[in-house]
Amino acid sequence: MWIFKKIDSLQQYLNQQRKDKQRIGFAPTMGALHQGHLSLLSQASRENGLAVASIFVNPTQFNDPNDLEKYPRPIENDIEMLTEAGCDVLFLPDVSEIYPTGSRNWVSPFNFGELARVMEGAHRPGHFEGMAQVVQRLLDIVQPDRLYMGQKDFQQQTIVGAMLAQLQLPTELICCAIVREADGLAMSSRNIRLSPTARAQAPAIYALLQQAKKDRKNGLSPIQVRARALEKLAALPHFELDYLEIVDAKTLQPILNWHDAAAAVVCLTVRLDGVRLLDNIRI
Ligand code: AMP
Repeated sequence: MWIFKKIDSLQQYLNQQRKDKQRIGFAPTMGALHQGHLSLLSQASRENGLAVASIFVNPTQFNDPNDLEKYPRPIENDIEMLTEAGCDVLFLPDVSEIYPTGSRNWVSPFNFGELARVMEGAHRPGHFEGMAQVVQRLLDIVQPDRLYMGQKDFQQQTIVGAMLAQLQLPTELICCAIVREADGLAMSSRNIRLSPTARAQAPAIYALLQQAKKDRKNGLSPIQVRARALEKLAALPHFELDYLEIVDAKTLQPILNWHDAAAAVVCLTVRLDGVRLLDNIRI
């Protein structure tokens, strides 16, 4: 696997590969990799001549400086895992390489509309603006044919999809399925921060989402499905709810009737043991 820290040398290499008619599949990450991240790279590797990953802990999408500082950076281990997953190229830039003139005062050419005002956007002000800033910058640098992102961060991938369409960027977005632990907990870099007790309780999140899916099949309305899920959650000790919404997969706005949306998704974020856990399910 080739590792590039500088844009110039990365682009020289990628341009050569493009001349050889290689398609480029790209998965941006913040490192502290697990099997969820690796699934994006494996799919990118299967579907393209070249699989490119980036590891960049983007300061502009953290609203809490402590959180940014505490973000795990096990780079040696990450490199080993990427190599094993068949990743061809790792882009590992410094902050000054991504934001050479500083990262402030960025004005997005993308109109987020209502997409960033709900759910994660409402709980983490500025988060999606920072995410869009770095994704645009990375796309500009890598110019991939395909961009691989996880359904795990459902709102994020919906916003990126809308951004690609609105800015008429030539990259195709591929949304990859959520990789879960054997007990159903969605894999996340944050899971290691759960105490053993909290870790044992955490699979209740996926159980709740699966129940919502069953409830829909059994004929309950979105309002009833949501009410039952909220009731269940309230009965679980130690879980603090940030939000639980049943939304239109495209607009991310809550739906009142199933026929209001071509696809509906239950999105849920809870705090357990001080750790924020995100999950979702298409129903
Ligand atoms: P992050 O490093 O947290 O920014 O995540 C990088 C990419 O990996 C994003 O597109 C995430 O949606 C994706 N990802 C994170 N966790 C999972 C998972 N459990 N399954 C599939 N994709 C994931």
